[in-house]
Amino acid sequence: MKLEKLYEKLRSIHGSVGKWWPGTPEEIMVTAILTQNTNWKNVERAMKNIEKTLGKNDILRKLSSLSTERIAHLIKPAGFFNIKAERLKTLLEFLKEYNFNLELLREMPLENLRELLLKIKGIGKETADAILLYALEKPIFVVDSYTKRLLLRIFNIELKDYDEIQKLFMSYYPPDVFLYQELHGLIVEHAKRFCSKKPKCGECPLNKECFYSQMNGLS
Ligand code: SF4
Repeated sequence: MKLEKLYEKLRSIHGSVGKWWPGTPEEIMVTAILTQNTNWKNVERAMKNIEKTLGKNDILRKLSSLSTERIAHLIKPAGFFNIKAERLKTLLEFLKEYNFNLELLREMPLENLRELLLKIKGIGKETADAILLYALEKPIFVVDSYTKRLLLRIFNIELKDYDEIQKLFMSYYPPDVFLYQELHGLIVEHAKRFCSKKPKCGECPLNKECFYSQMNGLS
């Protein structure tokens, strides 16, 4: 299978997953940090705590007025809560400089904005790009361990470097926010449903076109 066909194929298997990352742009700013090294159920539990305490509106401004310890207490279910509270606090300080007006950030060129986000302690490339793509709707492809796994297994492309993988995808797919949002979501869905650590090639609809299953006679 060709890499440019992956989106179409995954969409035919899983259907449209749309924007995929749930929540308002403000919530996504927060969940992008909370989801580091944990599952989504725990992120939801932490978000419920935040919502119960602060309500649904203006959460960035309200969160920034809390101490790091208080934030840590609220996000406890997401795990690594002290580190994540510090990271959130640093991100919130950055957003405060823009009066929590995400529109101001959206108006900035993608590259400049990415550079600024990457300077924030605790925000790596995957988190920065998730914020850019899902909260700020900038056309940048998010790479994660599932992307690397599918690239290796389906296409026999072994790349470890984040930027190289991102460049590869972005050379095959046009800079379209919705497409990048959905493609990343479909990759995660496929990895969770079929291409887990121990792949379920027998059940996977891609097994006739996948390098790994063909090499191992698993189709
Ligand atoms: S056929 Fe197997 S290795 Fe290939 S994508 Fe499906 S589950 Fe993964």
